[in-house]
Amino acid sequence: MMLNNSDWYDLARETNWTPTYVEEADLFPREISDPYDIPVTEWEKFDEPYKVTYRDYVRTQREKDVGAYSIKSALDRVSFYKSADPGWKALLQLHFGAIPFVEYGSVSAFARMTRFGRGPGMRNMASFGTLDEIRHTQIQMFFGYEFLSVDRAFDWAHKAPNTDNWVVISERHTFDDVEHTRDAVSAAIMTNFSFEQGFTNLQFIALSADAKRNGDHSFSAMLQTVQSDEARHAQIGEPLLEIMIENGKLAEAQRLVDISFWRVWKQFSALSGVGMDYYTPLAKREHSLKEFVEEFVCQQFSRNLKALGLDKPWYWDEHFLPDIETYHHAQHLGMYLYRKTGWWNPVAGVGPAEREWLEKKYPGWNETFGEVWDVITESILSGQLDKTEPSVLPMICNMSGLELSGVPGKKWNVKSHFVDLDGRRYHFGSAVDKWIFELEPSRYRSHKSLVDRFVSGVIPQGDDAVYEYMGMAPEERGRCAEDFAWAEAFRNRKVA
Ligand code: MN
Ligand code: MN
Repeated sequence: MMLNNSDWYDLARETNWTPTYVEEADLFPREISDPYDIPVTEWEKFDEPYKVTYRDYVRTQREKDVGAYSIKSALDRVSFYKSADPGWKALLQLHFGAIPFVEYGSVSAFARMTRFGRGPGMRNMASFGTLDEIRHTQIQMFFGYEFLSVDRAFDWAHKAPNTDNWVVISERHTFDDVEHTRDAVSAAIMTNFSFEQGFTNLQFIALSADAKRNGDHSFSAMLQTVQSDEARHAQIGEPLLEIMIENGKLAEAQRLVDISFWRVWKQFSALSGVGMDYYTPLAKREHSLKEFVEEFVCQQFSRNLKALGLDKPWYWDEHFLPDIETYHHAQHLGMYLYRKTGWWNPVAGVGPAEREWLEKKYPGWNETFGEVWDVITESILSGQLDKTEPSVLPMICNMSGLELSGVPGKKWNVKSHFVDLDGRRYHFGSAVDKWIFELEPSRYRSHKSLVDRFVSGVIPQGDDAVYEYMGMAPEERGRCAEDFAWAEAFRNRKVA
């Protein structure tokens, strides 16, 4: 007779044995397992919100892979890519260079939760999470590599993590902080709750909807199959937060959320935000970044916070909400102007119709970001292409690794945020980035941004040195995907 899963599940994952060859503290060192000193009997209360057996897991995952890979093999991806809109190409190039190595990093994050988590239920869920992230790496590497014959930008799917490209440094700094350099509990709250529950819907559900509308069915299927795993393993976060709060660690839990929510937001805003509001062809856009964030983050994630008894991060109204309307517009400008430093070929995405859409979705866009694009447009139309590329390096935030930016034009609001420490000045893109640094300077102080490396001589002088340092051969450097043709639409009309 077959037992029902529920008859044996709890017993089978009671794996907190009493060690006899080593001390408990050697098996689960405090600083890696639980620096909060919560009794193990409390961690044992971790009850998986999503119960699955190994056999069922393997069967489901196999079905998911068969589904996604068969859509891919049924479609001629290479000819789809060749005829795709330049903006969609830019989005794919950016995605495949930026995402697979973060997925691969997550394998190790989950493996550490599996090894050092104190609750058997947590370890059980994290085991499946480890396998999930291996699958996400493999499927995205595989789907990206298919395009290698038509565009060398896809080599970055594999190459990116081994370079010191500035976008990669920025991502590494963020995810090393959130996923890889803290104890199993803190890293799980930051990764599973803030990052995965808070933001991966944006990358994988929202982008998948855009992909479908663009006729990119295999990319859409790939994103959906990834998100179906994220939705499951992200649930590790909530029970951990509940256990912390029940054991008097509310302030610590809130702080973990506040730090990681901001750090991950900056990444999503700069990468997904630009992809959604500029690279996705106008006719195929489902929603603006702002609308997606309002639905998935402001509504859903805030509800999750409240249900747990947590507050919204302290900077929500003052810094996060304004950022939704501005940050990615500024980052897009920077990435377009410094396009040679990226591995993808960006589109400007600011033709007359696009500008109308941007003004509608972000009232005031024309008199702020639009004014900078007016100048760029005029430079292109008067043949002064050199003016569309800055000749100096940008200031980079010592926390996010992204360009220091503000709102240009009539709402110019740039403020200097810095910390002086032992003879070094650290610049930050916002009061929140600075706050994170000041919480724990020893964690962040030795990091050098790309510009710090340039100034301090780590990167030699010379025109090409910075590209060589970033691992970018001349053919790998980004260029305007439309060769500036987009500006022609403004030739016989007055720029707005
Ligand atoms: Mn993943
Ligand atoms: Mn994940």
